[in-house]
Amino acid sequence: MRLLPFFMTFVIVIFASGCGTAVQELAKAKQQQANAEQALAKAEKAAEGLRQVVERVKNEQATGKDESNHSTGEDQDAGQPVGESVDEATPLVHEDLDATAWVQTSAEYPSITLQTYRAAKSRLDAALADSTWTAFAAQQDKLTDEDGKPLPPAVILDVDETVLDNSGFQAELIINGGEYTPDIWHAWVEKRKARPVPGAKAFLDACRSAGVTTYLVTNREFKAEEATRKNLEELHLIPAGGADVILSKREQEDWTSDKTSRREFVAATHRILLMVGDDLNDFAYAGKNHTAASRRKIAAENNSLFGDKWFLLPNPNYGGWERSLYEFNDRLPREKKLQAKHAGLWTSETVDSD
Ligand SMILES: [Mg+2]
Repeated sequence: MRLLPFFMTFVIVIFASGCGTAVQELAKAKQQQANAEQALAKAEKAAEGLRQVVERVKNEQATGKDESNHSTGEDQDAGQPVGESVDEATPLVHEDLDATAWVQTSAEYPSITLQTYRAAKSRLDAALADSTWTAFAAQQDKLTDEDGKPLPPAVILDVDETVLDNSGFQAELIINGGEYTPDIWHAWVEKRKARPVPGAKAFLDACRSAGVTTYLVTNREFKAEEATRKNLEELHLIPAGGADVILSKREQEDWTSDKTSRREFVAATHRILLMVGDDLNDFAYAGKNHTAASRRKIAAENNSLFGDKWFLLPNPNYGGWERSLYEFNDRLPREKKLQAKHAGLWTSETVDSD
């Protein structure tokens, strides 16, 4: 009988211990269930994202047409699908993220554009005073009209990323995980939501005050000219109802993405004082068939003009610099473009061939 209390205590301890283990096991099972539910929700979300990307790619393939790339553009190659890497697309990773964030949020971007436009404005007086001054070498020997009178002065500016900031379009591509197509670009243009590039308005106003005509030579398609004009007018970058100073691509038969024929058009009636743009093509043709190296060669050959008669604005998002890396083959799948860009980089391991 003396052993009975000891035996009862032993039974109670064993029982309590068993209960404790059961409670622990129950908590563990609950945690596992919660983890599984979380993983399932995550997988469902990812699957939904993927489904949307597949749907978007299908739509883009169905609607993608052979037109020019962006507003700076050369003609695209026909017949190849507009590519998007479905399995690599995620909402957070995008080729244009850093470049667009820089344009939209950095202190440096507006400082550079203001700096460029202020420098351009500071050359206006000298350019006006010197009757032999032209920013377009091809007109050097023809600075007077048929009666021998000096040609009136003009300045040529590009539009996109020179006068109009379209980084909102790039931001939409990033947020939607998409890439440029002519259709979505045209839809953006029609919305007239581009903002002014800092410094552009003050420069355009200064030109007009000095009696200098400002021509806007853009590789936006002619069909977009009305929306472009309205966007510019709404931002007071050009006067409402003024003369047509927008020279769009294909507005005339020989106005191709090579802007030379439009520079010649202006040069026939005006002395071109200055040129302002964000792409080498805004100053000298450096489009298709040019490589990154040959573009840099053209820039180097004209180096003395920059900051004097040619004024360049930054565009880290797109342009001939980017397209030359994949040989202007706009319809290459995204991953192929990325591979080509990787191949263009130099590192500490690279043999210096320049
Ligand atoms: Mg441009």
